[in-house]
Amino acid sequence: MPANIIDGKDIAEKILDSVKERVSKLKEKPKLALVLVGNNPASEVYVNFKEKDCLKCGCGCDRYNLPEDIDEIALLDLVTKLNNDPGVHGILVQLPLPKHINENLIMDSILPHKDVDGFTPVNLGNLVNDNNFLEPATARACIALIESVENKIEGKNAVVVGRSSIVGKPVALLLLQKNATATICHSKTKNLKEHTKNADILVVAVGKAGLIKRDMVKEGAVVIDVGISRVNGKIVGDVDFDSVKEVAGFLTPVPGGVGPMTRAMLLDNLLMAYRLKPKM
Ligand code: NAD
Repeated sequence: MPANIIDGKDIAEKILDSVKERVSKLKEKPKLALVLVGNNPASEVYVNFKEKDCLKCGCGCDRYNLPEDIDEIALLDLVTKLNNDPGVHGILVQLPLPKHINENLIMDSILPHKDVDGFTPVNLGNLVNDNNFLEPATARACIALIESVENKIEGKNAVVVGRSSIVGKPVALLLLQKNATATICHSKTKNLKEHTKNADILVVAVGKAGLIKRDMVKEGAVVIDVGISRVNGKIVGDVDFDSVKEVAGFLTPVPGGVGPMTRAMLLDNLLMAYRLKPKM
C-alpha cells in the first residue's frame, strides 16, 4: 500500500497560528534579530521566509544585511550589541557564513537564551545532558513530524543518516531522549542499507538527491526527508520519493515537509526565548 504523505505545510500552519494567538496575548512583541552576511541566494530566500513568518505571527523582526567582506570583529560587535539589547529576544545569524569568518566563534558569542536556532555550544551541550533549553528548529521539526503519525517512539529502531551538529546529531539525541534505539549513519558508514532497512523511523539529512531507494527502507517505516537539492531546476529530497512511497508507511515530501515545519519551530523557539528572558 502506498505511504501516507505527511503534510508538513498543514501542521506548520497550525503551529504558526498557535504562535500568533499566544503572541497576541502578550503586552510586548517578541523580537527576532535576523543577520544575513553576503549575498548567498539560498540564504536570502531563507531569511526572507523567516522575516515573513515573524510578521505573520505578530512578532517584531530587525534585519541586518551585512556585506560579504565584513570582518569577524564587526560581526562579533553586532552580536554583542544584540545580546545587550533587552528589546531583542532572539538572534539568528544565517549560516553558512563566508569562509573568512569562524562560524563556531560567532555561534558561541550568541547568548544561549537568545539562541533561537539552538546552535550555541551551551544549548547543544544541554541537549547532550537531557537538559533541553532551546532545541535546533530542524531537529524539533523532525520529531514533531514523527509524532504526528507515531504515538510511541520508545523502543523503536531509529536511524538518522547524517551527523551534522545542526541536524543529524540533534535529531538523534532527541530520539534517544524519547527512548528510541538511535543509530547515526554518515559518509563513512559501511553498507548503509543494512542499517536503514532495519529502521522503524528513518530520518535522512545528507543533501544527496535520491540517496535512499525503495530497497533501503523497511516496510511501513516512518521516513522523514530533511535533504534539499536542486535537480533540473526542481527542489528534491534525499529520498527517492516515487519508489520509497511504495514501501514506507509514512513519508514527508520535499518541498512541503521538514522545510515549513522548521520555519514554524523557529517561531515557536522565538516565543520560548521571549519567555526565558532573564528578568532584569
Ligand atoms: P552537512 O553537509 O553538514 O551534513 C551532511 C551529512 O551527510 C554528513 O554528516 C555526512 O557524513 C553525511 N553523508 C554525506 N554523504 C553520505 C552518504 N553517501 N551516506 C551517508 N551519509 C552521508 O549537511 P546538513 O547541514 O546536516 O544538511 C543536510 C541536508 O539537509 C542538506 O540538504 C540541507 O540543505 C538540508 N537541510 C534542510 C533543512 C530544512 O529545513 N528542510 C534544514 C537544514 C538542513
